[in-house]
Amino acid sequence: MTPSQYFDAVIPTVDMTIRSELYHTNEFNFAVAVILSAQATDKKVNEVTPALFRVAPTSQKMLDLGIDGLKEHIKVISFFNNKAKNIIALAEKLKSENMTDTFPEKYHSRDALMKLPGIGQKTANVVCNVLWGAPNIGVDTHVFRNAHRYGWVDYSDNTPEKVEAKLLKKIPQKYHSIVNHVMVLHGRYVCKALRPNCENCAAAKICKFRNKI
Ligand code: SF4
Repeated sequence: MTPSQYFDAVIPTVDMTIRSELYHTNEFNFAVAVILSAQATDKKVNEVTPALFRVAPTSQKMLDLGIDGLKEHIKVISFFNNKAKNIIALAEKLKSENMTDTFPEKYHSRDALMKLPGIGQKTANVVCNVLWGAPNIGVDTHVFRNAHRYGWVDYSDNTPEKVEAKLLKKIPQKYHSIVNHVMVLHGRYVCKALRPNCENCAAAKICKFRNKI
């Protein structure tokens, strides 16, 4: 199954009107939600963010809430101590540049975002891709697993960075901005880690792994 065959089959089955299932109300708190989602499910993050963003939707309000208040909101999320430190550092940096709820244009690239506290490559990719349609491929657990499953990358591609580099070469450019969205939703609900739902998969006719996992 080539990447083009896969995307042409699966795209029509994915809701392209939402670009992320992470709850957010502005650019700043989308970045916060992505930081919280590292090694945590979107579902878990969405359990805490509506209440958090009601009291702290912007960088200034996040600073007003403070690190202890933030920890109280996110204490059910893995690595919450570290994530709280990163989020407060990010809020401080952005507040110092008079940014409250949107990123100035100078940050609208992966490399620029990665200079901000708490934002690594995966977070930067997802933020750029979802907020500004940039052709970055955020490699989360679903993208990583299924890129290997479909044979688009090999065993030596053992980090998200290597998988992203390989996918950028293998997948035609016209799909780059939607790779993460399509592979995450298809991987989360259909081509799951255990017992993929091959009977209801749009790619079943072209997938050699159908009913073999
Ligand atoms: S047919 Fe099954 S293994 Fe192949 S992509 Fe679909 S869900 Fe995944």
